[in-house]
Amino acid sequence: MMNLYLNGEFLPLDQGRISVEDRGFQFGDGVYEVVRVYRGKPFRLEKHLARLEQSVKGVEILMPEPVAKVSEVCRTLVKGLEEGQIYLQVTRGSAPRVHAFPQDLRPTFVAYVRPVTPHAPDRVYALKTVVDDRWGRCNLKTICLLPNILGKQRAIEAKCDEGLFVRDGIVTEGTSSNAFFVRDGALLTHPSDNRILNGVTREAVLEIARQLGVRVRFQGVTIVDATASQEAFVTGTLTEIMPAVSIDGKPVGSGKVGPVTLKLKNAFRELTAKECG
Ligand code: PMP
Repeated sequence: MMNLYLNGEFLPLDQGRISVEDRGFQFGDGVYEVVRVYRGKPFRLEKHLARLEQSVKGVEILMPEPVAKVSEVCRTLVKGLEEGQIYLQVTRGSAPRVHAFPQDLRPTFVAYVRPVTPHAPDRVYALKTVVDDRWGRCNLKTICLLPNILGKQRAIEAKCDEGLFVRDGIVTEGTSSNAFFVRDGALLTHPSDNRILNGVTREAVLEIARQLGVRVRFQGVTIVDATASQEAFVTGTLTEIMPAVSIDGKPVGSGKVGPVTLKLKNAFRELTAKECG
């Protein structure tokens, strides 16, 4: 099965080969995207590719192919896939190992697909707070994910499902998700600045909230207020909308999925069905 595209060629995934001097491997010098495929169709592919363009630009890497070509590659790769994901990665390319980069390097471009097992409809998350010690440009989707993987690991070791990053006492986002809280019927989420990745799912949730008349406030929430909120949930391409029922072992609200979360979750399912029907 040709489920991998590597630098211009379609291949089976296990036949992809990348240089040990690839700067992605040696420096984490690259960016990525993950796109969810529902019923064989990529969800909001254009938004992911627009963000990929922003990320490559932000770290001064060249787009390996025009966006239209990347989009075509994605559509070829998803053939035969029902529920799945597309992973896209662009690194600066391969060169002898020095920090400064040559200007004429050809970027390494990888895209591949994997099946996804949909979440059980009643799945909920327990969150664990972790220190957000990432760099100052979290709006770029770079492959330098050490703080994220260590944060997730701490959460899993504490028998939780996701780590909730806290910086200067304020919840920024999850280790691989955006965070939302419900207070007095309004949604609270961190403003989309350089402290968070502006999720494609986050944007979809904001769109749905507007349509449903749910008020939104873009503000950082303290960890005390987060735990005292009536409802909480995290969002992401693979996470979708996931109700969060506890933070550091303390129940959020009733400790069950709340009405606002449920309403948004149902509307999100309808949106994916409409756009990928
Ligand atoms: N923040 C971080 C740190 C993430 O890794 C992700 C998942 N890619 C998100 C937010 C959610 O973004 P999206 O909805 O675009 O997947």
